[in-house]
Order: sequence, then structure tokens, then C-alpha cells
Amino acid sequence: MSARILVVDDIEANRKLLAAKLEAQYHSVLLASSGPQALEMANEHKPEIILLDVMMPGMDGYEVCRRLKANPATNHIPVVMVTALSDAEDRVRGLDAGAEDFLTKPVDDFLLTSRVNALMRYNAVTSELRQREASGLKAGAVDGSASDEIDQPARVFLIDDNPRTSARTANVLREHGHKVMTLLESGNMGELATERTDVLLVSLLSKSFDPLKLCAHFKTNDVTRAVSILLICDPLERAKAVKGLEIGASDMIMAPIDAQELVARVRTQTRRTRYVEILRERVDRGLELSVIDQLTGLYNRRYMTNQLQQFMHRAVKGGKPLSVMMLDIDHFKRINDTLGHQAGDEVLQELADRLRHNVRPMDVACRPGGEEFLVILPETPGELACAAAERVRRAIAADSFNVLSDTRQVAVTVSAGVASLLGPDDTMAELLNRADTALYQAKSGGRNRVESIAA
Ligand code: GH3
Ligand code: MG
Ligand code: MG
Repeated sequence: MSARILVVDDIEANRKLLAAKLEAQYHSVLLASSGPQALEMANEHKPEIILLDVMMPGMDGYEVCRRLKANPATNHIPVVMVTALSDAEDRVRGLDAGAEDFLTKPVDDFLLTSRVNALMRYNAVTSELRQREASGLKAGAVDGSASDEIDQPARVFLIDDNPRTSARTANVLREHGHKVMTLLESGNMGELATERTDVLLVSLLSKSFDPLKLCAHFKTNDVTRAVSILLICDPLERAKAVKGLEIGASDMIMAPIDAQELVARVRTQTRRTRYVEILRERVDRGLELSVIDQLTGLYNRRYMTNQLQQFMHRAVKGGKPLSVMMLDIDHFKRINDTLGHQAGDEVLQELADRLRHNVRPMDVACRPGGEEFLVILPETPGELACAAAERVRRAIAADSFNVLSDTRQVAVTVSAGVASLLGPDDTMAELLNRADTALYQAKSGGRNRVESIAA
């Protein structure tokens, strides 16, 4: 996997060194020598990862990071702060500015490679979700309120077989308001499935079980797959850490654990898990929005034509009948004219409810537009479809509709046209056309009735 990486540093020798290391791993590298140039290039070239020097004259790395994170066009790009200061204070400051990660100079090849790879894996998930979101959603269809959740206290599952270090690690996190469950052995994971977990903190120093096997298990299990894994590593066992990151862990922290670094990394991983979750929800909701009519909750025209095409195909293949009923409200214009558009809308909603309750679960009720409805009736011959349409017609005409907070009652009737699939040469346009012709006959025959076109 090769990535497009922007390297920002005011000193040319540093830029060259990092570029050489990254190019040796087949990444393509962009270079910026100042904060403002970095912002411009991030905006224009949309790198996948940004390696950002902290100490730069003019605008320092913290400020660049804050600006990147404040810009919707760049805030999803992971930022790795590169600092000459090995002081934990400065690393934490970088994470506070919104950076995903940090490296200390001189940059260690092993740490550089593993951090870049972990960030690329994370990018792969989020960019796919973002694309699906962009294609499924119109701008503004979903509000951003969910992002408030991102910085709520985390729920951490700590798996470390050493009671002393486990207790110490848990205490640090609890002091910062996080909820921590500790496990000294790899059994008893039951709790994981019951409540949502933000971070799995796994100690690779554990000896009583194989922590890497455990990570692999988490990454293949549906409940835990999306949860970030943070590894606690032995600095003398780097190969194990590399393996863990390959398996899918998102990040690592070296033992003995620095408290501030732990808190910062847990927060970053929590944000990640929640970010992925929020995007997933948005995608689901976006897909729903694109097929559902917002006023009535019935399927829209787009979904209707898509489904009808598939049902026709299946009916022909399986030699089964298929019918449609088309409904149109009688004199609906009068309802709007006398009671107003709001009352008209409420009639449409109530009618959709009655329609839903009077067709079978397998039937597909749609509102292709206006005051027109269509129901797809799979495996249903014409006579049965007419009987179903008659049942719907009666359910609507039987009781008047309460509208405008129950202050007004209005009698509503519908006319219906039924048509059935004729055979493999029949087309959707012709089928809908016949239903429309039948509907027209019902209208001209006096309304509040069902007509069909004989097959
Ligand atoms: P007919 O019995 O011949 O069907 O008469 P009609 O009045 O129902 O038919 P017409 O096509 O003349 O008028 C349909 C009306 O439906 C006109 C339009 O303003 C109204 N309408 C379409 N969509 C909506 C909607 O979403 N909300 C409301 N309130 N009215 C709508
Ligand atoms: Mg510098
Ligand atoms: Mg009408």
C-alpha cells in the first residue's frame, strides 16, 4: 500500500531525510517548508497523511494542525506531529491540537513505518465511508450533532495479565473520567458484547495468553471489528508490535507507560472508533433517505422503479404472477383548496398509514409523487390484486380523516387501477401504462372504485 504523504519542515535536510525514508517504502511525497505553504498544499493536493514539524518560524506546527482540523476540507487527514522534543508535555500538546499521532526526531524507521501503515488502514475505512456518504446524501440532509459525542468519556477494555501494571494503567484512565474494565486473562469476554466499547487496550507483555491471537480474534469478530486496538508494547520486542499493527491494531504505546501519553492516545483512539461509528450511521441513514419519501415514509419513485424491475424479472424467471395497484385520491385539490396545504399533507400521511396496514408485508407500498400511490404485489394474480385494492379502497372510504390537530374531519376516497404482468415481453412502461388506463376508467366511471385491465 502506498500513500500520498505531505512532509512539512522548515529545514531542508529534515525534509530530504523523511522523504527518502518514505520513498524507500514506495510512498509518494509532497514537501512544504512552512506552515502557510502546508495549509495551501493540504487544501490543494489532499494528501492522505501529513507529517508536521512542530518547531517552525512564523506559524508553528500546533497552529498548522489546529487550522487543518478546523477546515472541513482537510480535517479528516491524519496529522503526525514530528518533534525534536522528547518531552511528553509537547507530545500531548500536539495531540491536544488535534493531531492523530506524533514521532520524535531523529525519526525511527520502525516507528515511522508502523505509524504510517496504521494510519493508512484507518484511512481506508473512513474514506470508503465518506465516499458512500457523499454519494448517498444530499448536503444538509444529516445534521452534525452526533459529533458532540466524540469527546464523551471512553469505555476501555484493558487486557493485561500483570495485576500491578493493569491496576496502574486503569487508575490513570479512571482519574481522567474514563470507564475501564480490566481482564487479567483472555477468557470472559462476555461483557464486550453487551455494551459498546471504544478502545481495546491489549498488553503485548502478557504471558499467560497469546495477545496477538486475541487481537486477531477482535478484528475478525463482528462485535469488536470496528473497535480501535491500542497495544502496550515491550520496547525490546518490536517484531511483536509490528505483527500487532499488521493484524489491525491502530496504535501502540511503549511500556513503561507514560500517563499523559496514555490519556492522549486513548482519546485519539476513542475519537476514531466513534468517528467510524458516526459515519456508518450516516451512511445507513443516507441510504434510507435516498429511497424513502419523507412526507409519508413510503418508498419513493426511484426505489419503486428499481424494485418493480427486479420483481418483474423474478416473476418471469419463476413463472409467477405479479400485479400492481395504482391509487389516486379523488378530488384532492378540493381538500387543499378548502382546508389548506397542511391538511392536504396530513391526509397524505394518514392515507399512507391506512395503505400500509391493508397490504401484506411482502407488498411494496410507494408514493411515486403527489397524491398518487402504487403498490407492487408480488406473486399475485389480477383477481387477488383487485380484491386487495378493494380492501384498501374501503379502508380509506370507511372513516373520515382527522386533520389539523383533530379540529377538522374530511371524507377521503381513492380510485384504483390494477394491472398484471403479461409475460416475458411485457415492459415496466407498458405495465404502468395499463394500471394508469384502469385508474382513468375508475375516475371516469364515478371515482371511489377499482378497475382493472383484463389480461
Ligand atoms: P381527481 O379526482 O381527478 O384525481 O382530482 P384531484 O383534485 O385529486 O386531481 P388534480 O390532479 O386536479 O389535483 C391534485 C392535487 O394534489 C393538486 C396538488 O396541489 C395536490 N398535491 C400534490 N402533491 C401534494 C402534496 O405533497 N401535498 C399536498 N397538500 N397537496 C399535493
Ligand atoms: Mg523546525
Ligand atoms: Mg387525484
